[in-house]
Amino acid sequence: NFKCVYCMPEHPEWMKKHDLLSFEELYHFCAFMVHRGIEAIRITGGEPLMRQGVVHFVAQLQNLKPLGLKRISMTSNGHYLKQYAQALKQAGLDDLNISLDSLDADQFKQLTQKDLSPVLAGIRAAQEVGLPIKINSVLMNGINNNQILPLARWSVEQNIQLRFIEFMPLDGEHKWSTAHVVSEQQILDTLSTEFIVTSQEHHAAHSTSDPARQYLIDGHPIGIISTITHSFCGSCDRLRLTAQGEFYNCLFAPQGLQLKTEIKALAASAPLSELSLHRTVSNYIWNKEQGFHAIQQRLKNEPSRKISMHMIGG
Ligand code: SAM
Repeated sequence: NFKCVYCMPEHPEWMKKHDLLSFEELYHFCAFMVHRGIEAIRITGGEPLMRQGVVHFVAQLQNLKPLGLKRISMTSNGHYLKQYAQALKQAGLDDLNISLDSLDADQFKQLTQKDLSPVLAGIRAAQEVGLPIKINSVLMNGINNNQILPLARWSVEQNIQLRFIEFMPLDGEHKWSTAHVVSEQQILDTLSTEFIVTSQEHHAAHSTSDPARQYLIDGHPIGIISTITHSFCGSCDRLRLTAQGEFYNCLFAPQGLQLKTEIKALAASAPLSELSLHRTVSNYIWNKEQGFHAIQQRLKNEPSRKISMHMIGG
C-alpha cells in the first residue's frame, strides 16, 4: 500500500493470489527451519499488515516456541498498525520494526505516496499496548538527509530506538548510485553537531549477528545499518523466503532458489519431501557468496537486475 521511492518500482507487477504460498505452507516451512535451528522469524514484505490472516499466523507460530523458536518479529510501514497493535500483542509478537523516513508530512508523502499521521498513530498504539518497537529510516542524499537530526531528536524525546539504514542498490527502478548513499560517517558527523556520540561497538551486549552498529547519542541508543560502507557478510545469518516461495541466502544474491514445489510437497506430507528440501536448502545456505561487494562488478554489467527490496523484505 506504500510506494517508497527507494524500494518499489513505479509500475509494480502485482502477484496473483494463487501464486502466493498459503499460511499453512509458510507454517510448514517455518517448522522445518526451526527443527534445523532457526531461532528467529521476521514477517516482512511487501506489507505484512495488508495480508489477511497475518495476526492468526503470528499466533500459530507460537507453536514453534517449544521447538526452539525464540523470537517472532515483524517489519511494517505502520499505516494499519493502530487497528492491529492490540491483536498483534495478544498473538504474541515479540517485537516490531516500523519504517519512518521523514517527520515532515510533505516529504513523507513524496517518499511513500501516503500520509504520515496514520504511521505516527500506529507507533503510539504499539507503545500503548507495550509492543517493543524500533524505527527504521533509510536516508538518501538530496531527498531526506535533512531528517537525520529531526529523527534523532524525536527518538530521544519519545524514548524509541532508531536505526538509520544506508540506501542499498535494491530500489525498484534501479536508479541507485553511490552518490545517493548517506554513509555511516556522514550520519555520525551530522549527529555530532548536536549530540555527544559514543560508539558501543566494543560492548558485546548485542547479538553478534545484529546488522546494526550501535552508538549512544547523549546516552540514548541509536543503530546504523551500514551495508554499503561496513558490510557485515561474515556475521550475517539471515535467510529470506518470498511470498511466492523463492529462497535467498543474501539480499544481494543474483538468484533465489525456487522452493515453491518443495514447500507444497512438505505441507502435503509427501514422502521424502523433508529430505529433499533439506538437501537443497543446506547446500544453498553453505554456498553463500559475499554480498554487496561481490555484486559491484555484476551491477555494472547487468544494471537491470530484477531483485528489489519490496520482494525480499529488507
Ligand atoms: N512494508 C514494510 C516496511 O515498510 O517496513 C516491510 C518491507 S520493507 C521492504 C522493509 C525495510 O526495507 C524497510 O525498513 C525499508 O526502509 C527497507 N528498504 C527498502 N528498500 C531499501 C533500500 N533500497 N535500501 C535500504 N533499505 C531499504
